[in-house]
Amino acid sequence: MAVPKRRTSTTRKNKRRTHFKLAVPGMVKCDNCGEYKLAHRVCPNCGSYRGEEVVEK
Ligand SMILES: [Zn+2]
Repeated sequence: MAVPKRRTSTTRKNKRRTHFKLAVPGMVKCDNCGEYKLAHRVCPNCGSYRGEEVVEK
């Protein structure tokens, strides 16, 4: 089995980890209530979509 010859230094480890960061989902402000919502989805706060179309209560 392959075994690492040297241990990974803290710097190298940290440099590798610069690439994994939190991915923020596409959040946009709702046209109706100004609350943050996911793009291309009905607002969970007020139930509107693209301005005025109210899909749910
Ligand atoms: Zn809304």
